[in-house]
Order: sequence, then C-alpha cells, then structure tokens
Amino acid sequence: MSATFSQRPAWTPLRLDAQSDPVLVASGAAMESFDPATGELVATVAVSSTEDVDGAVERAHDALRTKSWRNNGALRARVLNRWAVRLRENIDYFAELITREQGKTVGEARGEILGSIGQVEYNAGLARALYGRAIALNEGVHGVVLREPVGVVAAITPWNYPFNLTIRAVAPALAAGNAVIVKPASLTPAIVTKALEMLHEDPDMPDGILSVVVGPGGTVGDRLVRSDGIDMIAFTGDSSTGIGVMKTAADSLKKVSLELGGKSPNIVFADANLDKALAGAVNAAFTAAGQICTAGSRLVVERSIHDEFMDRLATRVRDMRVGEGLDAATEMGPLVSAGQKKTVMDYIDIGRTDGTIVVGGNALDESPYSAGHFVAPTIITDLPSDSRVITEEIFGPVLAVQTFEDEDEAIAIANGTEFGLACGLWTTNLDRAWRVGRAVESGTIWINTYHHFYGEAEVGGFKRSGIGRQQGIEGILEFTETKHLNFDSNPNLW
Ligand code: NAD
Repeated sequence: MSATFSQRPAWTPLRLDAQSDPVLVASGAAMESFDPATGELVATVAVSSTEDVDGAVERAHDALRTKSWRNNGALRARVLNRWAVRLRENIDYFAELITREQGKTVGEARGEILGSIGQVEYNAGLARALYGRAIALNEGVHGVVLREPVGVVAAITPWNYPFNLTIRAVAPALAAGNAVIVKPASLTPAIVTKALEMLHEDPDMPDGILSVVVGPGGTVGDRLVRSDGIDMIAFTGDSSTGIGVMKTAADSLKKVSLELGGKSPNIVFADANLDKALAGAVNAAFTAAGQICTAGSRLVVERSIHDEFMDRLATRVRDMRVGEGLDAATEMGPLVSAGQKKTVMDYIDIGRTDGTIVVGGNALDESPYSAGHFVAPTIITDLPSDSRVITEEIFGPVLAVQTFEDEDEAIAIANGTEFGLACGLWTTNLDRAWRVGRAVESGTIWINTYHHFYGEAEVGGFKRSGIGRQQGIEGILEFTETKHLNFDSNPNLW
C-alpha cells in the first residue's frame, strides 16, 4: 500500500445560512463539517429548529395550493433541465466539495455527480410523460386513471453519496409535481445545500416547493417523520434507522420508501474472465472505501480457483494507493468520521478472532494519515457463516471471503443474509447467469460488471434492504398516488 497526499490548494470554509442560501430553512446556531482526510473545517451551516421544520412544511403546502407547479409538467421539466445544465457547469466545484466534506476520491465524486445529472435529465423527461390511462368500462361509463403527486415529501438522506442520494429522491419527487423538504446527514450538509440552492435559485421555482432543513436525525428528522403535514417519507440510510422511521410514520399512516443497507455477495465462478472479475472485486469492495450500500462486501469464490484468485487479489489490494481524495493518484480515500473508523476497526477485531486477516486489518494512524480517518483495505478469510463480519453491514473497506463447491451452494451463500440489495455474478456461462440471477434474492444483479447505475433502471432492496424502488419509471411512480375518475353518462343511476 502506498500513501498519496498531495499539497492541496487552500480552502476557505463555507458559511451557509438562510441569508446566503435561501433554500435553507434554519434559524439556529451553526454546526460544522470537517474534511475526513485532514480534519480541516469545511463548512459551518445553520441548524434548523423544530419550528423551522414546521414552517417549511406549511410553506410547502401553500406552494402546492397555488397549483402552478403541481399541474404543469412542462414547467417542471424546464426547471429540472436548467438545474442539470448548472450542475454540469459546476462539476469541478462540486467534485472538490464532495471530496473535502465526504472524503471519497475526486474521480469517485465526479462519477457521483455525472450519475446524478443523468437522473435529473431523465426525470425532467418523465415530468412530461406521466400519462394516466382511459378505460371504456361499460355502456356510457368511462374511467380515467391519473397519477397525481403525493403532496409534501420529506427526503431524508445519508452521508455516503450525499449528492446522488439526495438528487435521486428530489428529481423524481419534483418531476411528479410534489413539494420536497430535504434533511441531509449532519456529516455532509454543505454538499446537499449547495446543490439544491442551485435549483432553488431558478426563477420559475415557486417559493416553498423546495427546502432544506439541517440538524440531527433524532430531532429534525424525527419532526418531519411525525409531522401531520408530511405526506411521504423517502428515506435512505441504515436498516435499523429505516425500521424506526417506518414505525413512527405508521402513527400517521404516511407513505414510506426505504432504501436501506446491504451485505452484497459478489460471486466468481471458475469459468469467469478472471482478469475482469478481479478488477470488479476491487471496485465492488473498495469503492468509496466500502461506504456504499451496494458494496460487494462478500466475495464468494468457487473453490477450484480460490487460491489463485485470492493470491492475485491480495497482491492488488496490498498495492492500493490510499490517501486524500484530491490527489489524482489516490485509489481509496478515508472513512467519513472517527466514529465510522471505530465501527470498522471493531468489526476487523471480530474478523481477527473469527477468521484470518490476509491483507490490511490495521488503522492508518501515522503521518500522513494521522489527521484523518483512514483504515487499510482489508481482506478476511476462513470466517464461519454466522460471523458478524459475514452477516452484518460494516460500511468500510473490509472484504469477507466465502467459498463454494457448486452453483446451489453459491446461491445459498448469496441468499444467506437478511439483506438483498445487490449481487455480482462473474461467469461466461449464459445459462448459469440466468439461473443464478433469477435465484438470488436481490434488487440488482450485475453480470460481469459491478456498480453500474442507470437513471433508466430501478434499484432497491429485497428483504431488510428496503421497500420500494428508486430510479427508472418505478422511481417516479413512488412519488405519485393513483386516482380513478369514473364517468357515467347514462341517464339513470343503476
Ligand atoms: P443513518 O440511518 O444513520 O442516517 C440516514 C439519515 O437519517 C440521516 O440524515 C440521519 O440524520 C437521519 N436520521 C437518523 N435518525 C433518524 C430518525 N430517528 N428520524 C428521522 N431521520 C433520522 O444512515 P447513515 O449512517 O447516514 O448512512 C449509511 C447507511 O445508509 C448504510 O446502512 C447504507 O447501507 C445506507 N444506504 C442505503 C442506500 C440504498 O440506496 N439502499 C444508499 C446509501 C446508503
């Protein structure tokens, strides 16, 4: 492993409040966000009170009552398309901000931004294509089935892909004609506020349709979940938090969509293109230092190729360049916070007891890493299937290895956790790809690839990985209610 720490350009910390960024509804004292690689201050951001949350909810309802937004798909498409253009013009700015506030490499940040812009453009198109249908039901009787916006949506988002996961909810929710109030994670408030301010500034964006509230999940987030004025919660985050959100939302029977955690298997069959599978395994496990919900954090390898494949993988991972993300040579950045680093190191200690650490296993605490939250990319083998390193989401650069003898065992291992978010399959046998792809319980199956996302294609979880779908046609439909208008032109009632 080698260190990559270039001399960075100076950074003037951002100061965000309701005056500088009017999308922010926040009257409280400021909170701070810090660079996970260097500990530098990145931004101070005003915090929202529960009264601010209630005010944002009220303004959102007022804005929807004017109907100009709700009923005008062409207007919404225009506004979203202009946002996409502005985001594209500012890729370099946002890439640096993401790397500084979240920690991922600047290349990963650019990928996050480009994917997000694609989602804005895709949903801008759908804003004009949300057709209902008409049905001839009987003599003189017709039904018109419409898709209407749900109302006021609260989008509660995590810190790992703050730009993308916010936009992935905001773009379809707005395209469908809703008002949206966003609550970003407290570790990454500046990225989200800046991206949404750019949309809020659009001259055709009605006041109150889009707001950001900032603060702890337990108070600001909870206020949204309990508010009688919120019609839907679009939550992305940890499975246990999502379950709590759903329970609270049940009191007022709010609609919820939940995009939650994963422990995704990445299955390599002996007949795979092993060069490609090797690169795919590194990408699956160590993208964003493993802090991605779809991380291929379980490598499931056919026994006949295990030793050769693992030797090559260990050599590759040992050589990874770990450092601060603005250095173009960096392959893996830091963890987002000291707390996340401790969580990951605790899991590595469990792995040390339950299995064998073949690469890494250590925190990087010496210079040049000492001011940041770095952990070496780690591979652990010889784990029993009930080890917590196999069954629980770690959300860090820790790859657990499992082996199988035949296809049935591969499927059983893949389905052997309570999650079902994503799965990788590496094989040159087309029939096998179909069979295994159909048998694995997972929202996404990548065949001879990994971590490729498309605005057009749905993502979401089976089992404890979530409820509902984001992206694609189903992604926008999540933010709608179905209404049947039933017309009877017969002279008599019956
Ligand atoms: P988290 O659950 O701790 O927080 C997510 C958001 O919920 C934050 O904004 C937080 O402030 C808020 N929150 C916390 N408690 C709340 C409460 N009681 N009421 C309302 N809001 C509350 O998750 P995190 O640590 O920020 O993110 C990491 C997790 O997100 C991982 O489990 C990861 O797998 C998951 N994730 C899932 C997807 C997906 O698409 N399935 C994508 C990215 C991340």
